Amino acid sequence: MILDEISTAVVAQLNDQAKLGVQVIDQAEVPETGPASRGLWWRIPNVTAVFADLKGSTALSSSVSPEAAALAYTYFIRAMTVVLERFSAGYVDIQGDGIFGLFGGQRSMFHAAACAITMRSQVEKVVAVRFKKDASVQWKLEVGVGIDQGTLLVRQLGLKGTKRNEVWAGKTVNMAAKLSSAAGPNQVAASDRVFAGYERAAKLRQQALIWSCGCGGRNRGPGLSASTGQASRLWAKQAAPKGLGLDFGSVYTRRAGWCERHGAEFCEAIITGQRPAR
Ligand SMILES: [Zn+2]
Repeated sequence: MILDEISTAVVAQLNDQAKLGVQVIDQAEVPETGPASRGLWWRIPNVTAVFADLKGSTALSSSVSPEAAALAYTYFIRAMTVVLERFSAGYVDIQGDGIFGLFGGQRSMFHAAACAITMRSQVEKVVAVRFKKDASVQWKLEVGVGIDQGTLLVRQLGLKGTKRNEVWAGKTVNMAAKLSSAAGPNQVAASDRVFAGYERAAKLRQQALIWSCGCGGRNRGPGLSASTGQASRLWAKQAAPKGLGLDFGSVYTRRAGWCERHGAEFCEAIITGQRPAR
C-alpha cells in the first residue's frame, strides 16, 4: 500500500532529523543563500521585507489573452528584480506571482522604503506605460508594496537538486505580503513598527521619508527644506484591516511616488541620511 510506504518514509525522515537536531546561530546580515549543512539554521534580527504584489492578477488571466497575461508578469517581475538588485537587497525570491526582497542590518528599513517607493514609481511611469503600448489591452498594470520588519530564521530545505529553496521562518515576509495585497493600486503600505522607525529617524531622513517636497508637481520649490507638518504628510494612518491576521494595530499607506524634480535627492537622503551634494 502506498499510504503505508509514505508513513514509513515520513517516520524514517523524522528519525533522521531528530538524530541530527537543530543548531541556531545568530547572523547580522541577510545571506544570498541560507545554510545547507545538516541541522543548521541562521537567526537574523532587523530584517526588513519588501513585497511587491501585481494588482488584479487574479482577474488578469480571465480578462486578457494568455500572451498578454504572460507579458504583464514578465515585465512586472523583471522590473521589480532590477529595482531590488539596485537597492542591494540581500535576498530576492518569487512567491506565487509576487516578488520580495530582504534587507538586513540596522538601516534596512530605510533601504526598504527607498526601494518600495521606487518600485511604485517605476511601475506607474515605466512598466505600465510600456505594457499598455506593447500588449494593447485595457487592463492596467499596477503594484501594491508592503513593508515589515522582524527577526527571521533561515535555512535551505527540500528535496535534493533543484527542488531546494530557502525557508524563511518568522512572520515578516508573510506580513509584508499581506500588506502588499491590502495596499491600494500603486500604494506602499508599512506596518506601524516600521513606520515608528521612520518617525524616530534623524531629521533629514525623516523629512525625506515622511513629508512632501512641497512643490506639488510644479517641478520647483523647496525640496528637502520644505516645511513639515500634517498638511504635507505623505502617509495616512489607518486601523489594520481585520481578518487578515496582521499582528499589529495600524497600517501606514503612501500613495505618492517620487517627485520628478526632487525624487533623486529624497531617495539619496533616505539611504545615506545626508543631504546630497549639489
Ligand atoms: Zn517636488
